[in-house]
Amino acid sequence: MVLFNFDNSYHRLGDSFYAEVAPQKPENPELVLLNRALCAELKINLDIFSKDEIASVLSGVELPVGAQPLAMAYAGHQFGHFTMLGDGRAILLGEHKIDDQKRFDIQLKGPGRTPFSRGGDGLATLRAMLREYLMSECMFALGVPTSRSLAVVKTGKTVKRETIHQGAVLTRVMDSHLRVGTFEFARQFLSFAQQKELLDHAIQRHFPHINDVDCAALDFFKEVANKQLDLILHWMRIGFIHGVMNTDNMHIGGQTFDYGPCAFMNSYDPKTVFSSIDRNGRYAYGNQPEMALWNLSVLAGAILPQVDEDQERAVELVREVLNDFARNYKSEWRKMMCAKIGFDSDTQQAITLSERLLSWMSENKADFTNTYLLLSGDISSADSTMNDDLKHWILDWKTEVLKQKSWVDVLRTMRASNPLVIPRNEQVELALDAAVFQNDYSKIHEMIAVIGGQAPNRVADYQAFSATFDAGYQTFCGT
Ligand code: AMP
Ligand code: MG
Repeated sequence: MVLFNFDNSYHRLGDSFYAEVAPQKPENPELVLLNRALCAELKINLDIFSKDEIASVLSGVELPVGAQPLAMAYAGHQFGHFTMLGDGRAILLGEHKIDDQKRFDIQLKGPGRTPFSRGGDGLATLRAMLREYLMSECMFALGVPTSRSLAVVKTGKTVKRETIHQGAVLTRVMDSHLRVGTFEFARQFLSFAQQKELLDHAIQRHFPHINDVDCAALDFFKEVANKQLDLILHWMRIGFIHGVMNTDNMHIGGQTFDYGPCAFMNSYDPKTVFSSIDRNGRYAYGNQPEMALWNLSVLAGAILPQVDEDQERAVELVREVLNDFARNYKSEWRKMMCAKIGFDSDTQQAITLSERLLSWMSENKADFTNTYLLLSGDISSADSTMNDDLKHWILDWKTEVLKQKSWVDVLRTMRASNPLVIPRNEQVELALDAAVFQNDYSKIHEMIAVIGGQAPNRVADYQAFSATFDAGYQTFCGT
């Protein structure tokens, strides 16, 4: 079956970088979610195939023409500790090439064991794969760089965790699956020549404009740092908590991926953590910029010999980039937070107002998303969190912001910075319950449509939420 236009450049790196492995073949695959908008972006026409044919290819039963299935080798720092990992429950089918500029990894997640599975079964539960589909597509709708989800196929087989679950395979689409951990792997286990091949490959795929061979590694590092900076700003802007920012989950091209334990912060508190395994809050909402910097320093270590033969000089060069990241992040974050209240620049007055608002939110446990919407009038002011302190703040804010621009322009800036709807944790779980237990996928579709602005009449329902739900909410690494 010809479905993708495969051209597999990662496979050409040679088998030191991966293990060839075929997906398991489930007997009764059933397509439950298919992303037609993404099909159009990928320029693939699935309409000529039956639902069963699509299910068969996107579950691993039949390999599409040109596929060279492999599990990628990578290492990573998990909660600060170095480990050899690799794709234990994912198989890359190949790279779908759209034109000379653009190619996408097509990966099956949950297709069975690989040489990197260690003690795991290589399988995924339906609920975890639906959660990844939903969250990644919501992130895309919110304008955040992310992996995409093409389809979820039920395998018809069960998966054993604490209890018995339905099994499923997700088709994940991404600019590449190169991560900080890929470079750690190469540095630790491969030759210098192979480390260079990996770097060239990554530059070709993500930053082809880098052409100065003498400082390619340093230029690459600067580009990755910029992409990460942009990504973390998005996360902070919308209250997204990734939950497991280990270096194997940090993408070189700056896309969000690995949606296991992620969640959205409701009431504002930088210490917010939902992941059950993140006991010390390493990956709490407010720690994410620092953790991105930590991960970048690991990448720096992995490519250091390529930055300069003289180690001291190399350290100096990467340290400058890391310092720039810290400095630029602070100023970009301030600008972004000022834009959330309508300012074009981070003047001292705007910064003070933004900080006062954050303190107010934190003292009043106010909702991060809806507070900004209340200010721009995009949510009903019947909100119970409005109190005298906030009224006072609003007077000061309006006086200041209206000195700088018209109200219409203020609103334009705010609406470009503040999401109208986010995936609320409770609603995410309800949507997954309906799909898993009642075979009803309508809520998943609806939430993506609402967040993508295609169902304006449903917005108010998705803005409402019960604050009590989050108090005991826990997320898990999706297996
Ligand atoms: P993650 O938490 O998704 O980043 O996964 C961390 C590592 O554990 C990766 O190497 C995964 O491939 C591996 N892994 C997670 N779940 C499974 C599973 N069910 N079977 C085999 N390997 C797994
Ligand atoms: Mg991972």
